[in-house]
Amino acid sequence: MQLSPRTVIRCRGFPRLSVFEMEKPKDEKPSTAEDKRDSGAEDETPNSSSEATELEDSSVGKIRKYLAQKLGLHDSDNETDGQGAHMLTELSLDGIAEYIKSSGCRKIITMAGAGISTSAGIPDFRSPKSGLYHNLEKYNLPHPQAIFELDFFMENPEPFFVLAKQLMPIGFKPTPSHYFIRLLWEKGLLLRHYTQNVDTLERVAGIPGDVLVEAHGTFHTGHCLQCKASYEFEWMKEKILADEIPGCEKCKDGIVKPDIVFFGETLPDRFHTLIDNDFKQADLLIIMGSSLVVQPFASLVDMVPPNCPRLLINKEKVGMQDRIMRFLGLKQGLMFDPTDTNTGRDVAWLGECDTGCQLLADKLGWGEEMKVLIEKEQKNIEVEKSKEG
Ligand SMILES: [Zn+2]
Repeated sequence: MQLSPRTVIRCRGFPRLSVFEMEKPKDEKPSTAEDKRDSGAEDETPNSSSEATELEDSSVGKIRKYLAQKLGLHDSDNETDGQGAHMLTELSLDGIAEYIKSSGCRKIITMAGAGISTSAGIPDFRSPKSGLYHNLEKYNLPHPQAIFELDFFMENPEPFFVLAKQLMPIGFKPTPSHYFIRLLWEKGLLLRHYTQNVDTLERVAGIPGDVLVEAHGTFHTGHCLQCKASYEFEWMKEKILADEIPGCEKCKDGIVKPDIVFFGETLPDRFHTLIDNDFKQADLLIIMGSSLVVQPFASLVDMVPPNCPRLLINKEKVGMQDRIMRFLGLKQGLMFDPTDTNTGRDVAWLGECDTGCQLLADKLGWGEEMKVLIEKEQKNIEVEKSKEG
């Protein structure tokens, strides 16, 4: 069976560019009947009766391309329906476990949101409902999110540092979900971990910086907003805990801001540098504890090859293809339909991230190893803490 040519439309540089650049990689086969003719490629059925169909296909293709461009979407041509299902014997956690154990699954990308850190006691600081904002009433914020807006910060950095004091990753222990990711790395299966979290718990869990992309920045480092001098967490921590606004020691003028991404700021260069190459190589994508609503993070799920299965471990189903997209033939979002290999491609495991990760580890035969690792690591953290205290 021959697969049809695939069109890949990528949003590059988002959100650095205000317009999306469309790119058809040079090594891709031509994507539409028209392209085929232009490039002189041989049609599978080169006869005049196929001309009308070609024209029709070409128009549909153009409309899809146009919409994808206007809406800023990744468009993988859809004749690869259900390809994920073909990589899995069944669309379930068992199917995923079996696939991970096979030789065909060597490069796993994990993506995580606040859900993997909630059991560590870390509040979702971007949510006004988190309760973190109650202490800040005296600052008369125009709106809670102003704390994470650069303009406001330049004017009045104090509320941010009051909040930062509660948020700093001190004394929090990584969760079983973090250790599951570490296990994937130890087994040589982790291509990259993309996190929306700024709590540095991945680092605390022993996941090395080179396999980590902290998409929304991190408390791990900070920079002077004037001279760009770099500062380590320990230095910032001391100031913030002492209720001081960390001022730059080099230029004596600027404020040192932890490297977490504020609203309207561009994502770290590392994110933009790595996504294209990482996602096209992925054999499996595991999304954990993210509501997949914040862009451009959410749209990463569409950057894996069409035959790459995706597993969602989350309290609820998120990131699904919507009806309009489906109607237009745009393959955006996750497709959960375990009973139909035509429309089903992805697996959703619903519940607490830690429970899902432990269950998957069990199915992989790593369950005991994971429990031992967690116990050992958490004991070490306790020892470190008691030394400091
Ligand atoms: Zn400075």
